[in-house]
Amino acid sequence: MADLVFFSGTMDCGKSTLALQIDHNQRARDRQGLIFTKLDRAGQSVLSSRLGLETEAVEVDDDLDFWDVVVDCLTAGARVDYVICDEAQFYTPRQVEQLARLVDELGIEVTAFGITADFRTELFPGSRRLVELADRVEVLQVEALCWCGRRATHNARIVDGVMVVEGEQVVVGDTATASEGVVEYEVLCRRHHMRRMNSHAARAASPSPDTLPFDLDACPVPPRR
Ligand SMILES: [Zn+2]
Repeated sequence: MADLVFFSGTMDCGKSTLALQIDHNQRARDRQGLIFTKLDRAGQSVLSSRLGLETEAVEVDDDLDFWDVVVDCLTAGARVDYVICDEAQFYTPRQVEQLARLVDELGIEVTAFGITADFRTELFPGSRRLVELADRVEVLQVEALCWCGRRATHNARIVDGVMVVEGEQVVVGDTATASEGVVEYEVLCRRHHMRRMNSHAARAASPSPDTLPFDLDACPVPPRR
């Protein structure tokens, strides 16, 4: 029985590495599949992991119809046993529904990987629809850590070194845009996300870079702007 499985987690939790591993395992069993991604940090039509591995992938844009792409492949005589979808948080809810249809009507195994919530702690529309429709949701156990050593559960957006909680939902990191400044992302525990205390701010508040303030009293809640 085919399933729609959603592997969710923060950034840096190993989603893309697992996506590549699953693709490898499937191919080792002589199964054929399609890999999709969207806005991967390595560029268009590439699925890459932080460990340095990468593979070719179909780049998803808002107009792509998963049903049409797969049916076209099948009509052309190709086999599609499985579909792997990375960066699925960026897919539209409609596209997630197309993935569910591939599972139900064509018996294709669909495995999706995505970040659950954005830098404001709100669900991405694609991830929300996956949580609603998936046969199984797995929270990845390869745990990223906050600078304080706690489990990192939240994504923070850093602009020119300062954590922000307002702005466009999708801004790809590590790319300097003239209007926005340099955008980076950092994973934090909930406590430090709520206090807007990213590692840079923690260092600034600490007398020595080696003694980060583990004591929460040293991390006051920043005033609301
Ligand atoms: Zn923390």
